[in-house]
Amino acid sequence: MFDKIVIANRGEIALRILRACRELGVKVVAVHSEADRDLKHVRLADESVCIGPAASADSYLNIPAIISAAEVTDAEAIHPGYGFLSENADFSEKVKQSGFVFIGPSAETIRMMGDKISAKKAMLAAGIPCVPGNNDPLSDDNKKNLKLALEIGYPVIIKAAGGGGGRGMRTVHTEAALINAIAMTKAEAGAAFGNPTVYMEKFLEDPRHIEFQVMADSHGNAIHLGERDCSMQRRHQKVVEEAPAPGITEEQRKTIGERCAKACVDIGYLGAGTFEFLYEKGEFYFIEMNTRVQVEHPVTEMVTGFDIVKEQLRIAAGERLSITQDQVKITGHAIECRLNAEDPRTFMPCPGTIDQFHMPGGPGIRCETHIYNGYKVPPYYDSMIGKLIAHGEDRKSAIARMNTALSEIIIDGIKTNILLQQDIMNDSAFAAGGQNIHYLEKKLGIY
Ligand code: ADP
Repeated sequence: MFDKIVIANRGEIALRILRACRELGVKVVAVHSEADRDLKHVRLADESVCIGPAASADSYLNIPAIISAAEVTDAEAIHPGYGFLSENADFSEKVKQSGFVFIGPSAETIRMMGDKISAKKAMLAAGIPCVPGNNDPLSDDNKKNLKLALEIGYPVIIKAAGGGGGRGMRTVHTEAALINAIAMTKAEAGAAFGNPTVYMEKFLEDPRHIEFQVMADSHGNAIHLGERDCSMQRRHQKVVEEAPAPGITEEQRKTIGERCAKACVDIGYLGAGTFEFLYEKGEFYFIEMNTRVQVEHPVTEMVTGFDIVKEQLRIAAGERLSITQDQVKITGHAIECRLNAEDPRTFMPCPGTIDQFHMPGGPGIRCETHIYNGYKVPPYYDSMIGKLIAHGEDRKSAIARMNTALSEIIIDGIKTNILLQQDIMNDSAFAAGGQNIHYLEKKLGIY
């Protein structure tokens, strides 16, 4: 195992990684911006290095500064967390070239999965079901494109190969709108991602978002840890996640999960990853792979009893996966509510000082947050300030426990989305389970 690593992230995930390091006896270097000196994990770390001003571009996205921090502290590896540089192939490459271990997959894998066309091709080759489409860059041949759309069947969606964060896609409902939509998406993709390549696929109208967690080691072994349902979304941002996904059978879990694990072996995947699918009318359609740990990993940890972050560290250190597929057992149900510093009605970010914070507790409750009494939420970063996770013997008991926890938690001084989360937990359609990705926006009256 490593002696010392750098955590190239902030907030709750940095604290989560620090805790995993503590358990494994690994020393921690926290790197932080000038605005983040008071972060909880910075205070708890063995060493800390300020890597630049508040703006992410100058600090958490500053590759030379992060690598220098690893050099001056004599660390061995760098954990990128999620967001920031976690899916940046150049970062993975530079970390390796500088003689450190990147806790995640290789630059080649990140690059392949970062291009949606090459990712889809790799997945099709590995037997993963994908959304029907052309799976090649669209040409400028209008006739060919019109024919293609007819073959796929309207509505279709034009997507940027280099897109991300829910941007760079356009839905087309009629033949009349197709040519213009392709031109516009190309122009936008070129401007936003520096890559004008677009492709076409079937637009699924009422899908659910279901994703599979995988872990692969450097010895050719891979497992899946079952699925999560992340259909409660607003503006493509997940709000509530759960595991397992309501209504998914053991048979479906086994079939898709095993294909994902096999795909990892085929592409030489390393570490933790997530295969994201749209699920409609009983069928799974791959949309993308996230090559990092995800915000919602705790729901999988709660139902499997398996520590994904510790395993990331072990795998990066060259160890074999610590369990086999047969040892993965799903027990009960877990739900995660993201806690955001935002107005519960307008969703405007609401940074500021936390005057009072009381953590909820009780059986099956897990609170992942870096906030504390007197902590000042800075205005420069994502508004997520933590996550509340409830585990119960079944979905009903997980919801009941989450409701109790939400009524106990106190965060004073800033506005939070706790009211929205209570509203979702008490919603009869949510209680029934299996709503699609549009449900929350419809409920909020903004879809
Ligand atoms: P990004 O990398 O920008 O997150 P994704 O490919 O993961 O892009 O898609 C983001 C979201 O866009 C999906 O969760 C879904 O809501 C919508 N979407 C993408 N492709 C399709 C499709 N073929 N049909 C319907 N919705 C889609």
